[in-house]
Amino acid sequence: MSIAETHGKDLRGPSDSICLGCGLCCDGTLLSHLAVSDESDLGAPLRALGVELIAAAEPPVFELPCPAVADGVCTIHHLHRPRACALFECDLSRRVLDGRLDATIARGIIEEVLDLRTRVERGDAGAEELRDRLRRDFRANI
Ligand code: SF4
Ligand code: SF4
Repeated sequence: MSIAETHGKDLRGPSDSICLGCGLCCDGTLLSHLAVSDESDLGAPLRALGVELIAAAEPPVFELPCPAVADGVCTIHHLHRPRACALFECDLSRRVLDGRLDATIARGIIEEVLDLRTRVERGDAGAEELRDRLRRDFRANI
């Protein structure tokens, strides 16, 4: 899945955000690319980590996984991030913010998906099962 105008996830505060420790939309699991408006939107912190824009794309994008994500947390959150990083919400996060889903249940879903991804990487589960979970719980069109 490639994204256009919106992508970003809330690996920011508040500290009770379900995004902290998730990072599925930064680490290449949910999305393959992040769109930015230009080099200044990409920003110095990501450039310092070696991120390069694919300028031929419209809008320009850079490839995920983002090198700034570690253990589901954005390590440059306190610095400049692309604008889209602050805008994107997956469906799971949106349902929590709208009050349609309890945050504890959402965290449980994230843990299950992270565990499933690990099992896929080990060859103990199929990639299609992971894609189904991402479609169902995150509404990822992948
Ligand atoms: S809950 Fe959704 S928006 Fe937040 S980090 Fe995970 S995938 Fe991204
Ligand atoms: S800059 Fe931070 S929020 Fe944006 S994609 Fe990278 S890790 Fe995620």
